[in-house]
Amino acid sequence: MSRQNPFSSLRFLRPKPKDGSCQEESFSGGHAADRCGQREWEDFYRSRWQHDKTVRTTHGVNCTGSCAWDVHVKNGMIVWEVQATNYPGCGAAMPDHDPRGCPRGATFSWYTYSPVRLKYPYIRSALVDMWRRALEEHGDPVYAWQAIADDPEKVKAYQKVRGKGGLVRVSWDEAATLVAAALVHTIEKYGPDRVFGFTPIPAMSMVFYASGARFLSLIGGSMISFYDW
Ligand code: SF4
Repeated sequence: MSRQNPFSSLRFLRPKPKDGSCQEESFSGGHAADRCGQREWEDFYRSRWQHDKTVRTTHGVNCTGSCAWDVHVKNGMIVWEVQATNYPGCGAAMPDHDPRGCPRGATFSWYTYSPVRLKYPYIRSALVDMWRRALEEHGDPVYAWQAIADDPEKVKAYQKVRGKGGLVRVSWDEAATLVAAALVHTIEKYGPDRVFGFTPIPAMSMVFYASGARFLSLIGGSMISFYDW
């Protein structure tokens, strides 16, 4: 009895004929058929997992950047990523660190190119409307912020809509002016050590870390760690 190749009946695991030829077949009295010219979709799937190079890196957006990843790049775009799994062991009595990396990290290639990725400043519309009116009325940004922050009704009005969306895109200038005015007002009213901030951990990026740490030091604010936020 001749033995049949177990894959011979699985159409999609059969190799494509090298010469591009194709043979149509019919089975079970015409109830099933193999047709030619229906395998182009496979090329799309194959190219989805191709890459030109692999880069060892990590994730620096809202994370510590502590896990080692191999990121696969094609035509300058990140196409997929996988945990590097080459941390050294700490002895037989200790658990292995590998694989190190979370599900969020595993989706970073999607996150990076997502159309909804945040790239611009946004302010909740309830607050930005209030802010623009106050600025028009008071002229000076610090007085404008004071008029909002010292009015419990106004504070309640913009705080109670938190978590409900309604964010509108604003210019960097407008966002920076509001933040600066709020900081100055807090320092004037409560003192500089009432301003708290955190920056990325130094191991992740010295430049990011130093910019935030220096700013807080210069104004006399309090530095908290990344892990406290
Ligand atoms: S894998 Fe997760 S925990 Fe590790 S650096 Fe990336 S986002 Fe952070």
